[in-house]
Amino acid sequence: MERKNAWAKYDEAGLAKIEAFAKAYCAFLDGGKTERECVALAVKAAKENGFIDLNDAIAEGRALKAGDKVYVNWMNKSFVNFVIGQEPITAGMNIVGAHIDSPRIDVKQNPLYEDSDLVYLDTHYYGGIKKYQWVATPLSLHGVICKKDGTVVTVAIGEKDDDPVLYISDLLPHLAQEQMTKPAAKAIEGEELNLIIGGKPVKDMDSEDEKASVKAGVLAILKATYGVEEEDFLSAELEIVPAGKARDMGLDRSMIAAYGHDDRVCAYPSMQAVLDFEGVPQYTICAVLCDKEEIGSVGATGMNSMFFENIIAELCALCGENSNLAVRRALRNSRMLSSDVSAGFDPNFAAAFEKKNAAFLGRGVCFNKYTGSRGKSGSNDANAEYVAHLRKILDDEDVSFQTAELGRVDLGGGGTIAYMCAKYGMNVIDSGVAVLSMHALYEVISKVDLYEAYRCYCTFLRDAKPIA
Ligand code: MN
Ligand code: MN
Repeated sequence: MERKNAWAKYDEAGLAKIEAFAKAYCAFLDGGKTERECVALAVKAAKENGFIDLNDAIAEGRALKAGDKVYVNWMNKSFVNFVIGQEPITAGMNIVGAHIDSPRIDVKQNPLYEDSDLVYLDTHYYGGIKKYQWVATPLSLHGVICKKDGTVVTVAIGEKDDDPVLYISDLLPHLAQEQMTKPAAKAIEGEELNLIIGGKPVKDMDSEDEKASVKAGVLAILKATYGVEEEDFLSAELEIVPAGKARDMGLDRSMIAAYGHDDRVCAYPSMQAVLDFEGVPQYTICAVLCDKEEIGSVGATGMNSMFFENIIAELCALCGENSNLAVRRALRNSRMLSSDVSAGFDPNFAAAFEKKNAAFLGRGVCFNKYTGSRGKSGSNDANAEYVAHLRKILDDEDVSFQTAELGRVDLGGGGTIAYMCAKYGMNVIDSGVAVLSMHALYEVISKVDLYEAYRCYCTFLRDAKPIA
């Protein structure tokens, strides 16, 4: 049993829609290279589409009714939007969820040092990266520096055409005989990921010291540009990501090479499917874009936090269902697509896959009934009844989908946010878009898969029903 390639079913008008959606997605990628930047874009889009801040509704004690549109900005790192449905919220919601953090390199708290007339930021990588991929390539720096007086300085260096970029060096091959014999995991070590940010000595005018230093020069620039001191690094969140924009990939422009497809290629269409919903949904619809998935969904902005449950409690109260039981019913009766990228079958590394149960670029949105490793351990094994319901509603709309496992049995594995939502007893399944070179600086997806994911989320939000 083989699933069809999705491109073939599109005529000129359909292809134009795929292209337009891909273009908007690339703009989201270019403007949203960190979870904070993604939330800023999501809040802007929500406001433009008539969504109101849940906190304002709470403050005003405003009752919510069918058709009302609400969003939540959670600590500037996670985001949720809703359209209230006709059925009571206790009948459950149709939820699409994805994450907006991506693997990257973070700046340490005490990062700045000078060595051999170069000045560096020391780092600690975030998520599952192949460290050797991050050297000898242009990098940019994004994030916030929070000052003691409460001001938050936003930083984005290395994206504009006339911006400088930053860089982590690698050893020249002429002297790399020892390095080249190491396993890939050891060729570049974590403590070797030091970011070069300057190289011109400057004399510090405020200091008695006669000697010029590169560090003083960089600190003077930070002071002049952002009004920050070295100590302000203590309360900063700075993320190092590849510099540059998302690009069309392939002579036929059928793919996109970009940083952060994992998991913005699911987050963007999820958010957009709620924004674009026309009319009043039968069941309350919701997109949740969460942080910290790449390091285990920990922290107050990760899906393991109770922030989502707390939001549902507030929503229930504003919908006139102010009880603990109502919250439990709203969650238990919900249906969810936990949307995250899937490993695209790669003929270069065919042995890593089992071809009958692999996701192929171009064959549509991908469902992973289970993920996990070592005998499905840690996976959310979605109910067959639920999978059958999804097949029905997607086939009725001619949405192209495929099913897959993450690689061949016992090779590795991975987790998503599905099991955390499943703990409420709701039906949830992993779904998403197939990616080549997942977690690399530039990952690759097919434009048609992105579009099928969007169509899948739109169909799901409108048509998914409680499972008997
Ligand atoms: Mn992911
Ligand atoms: Mn990932």
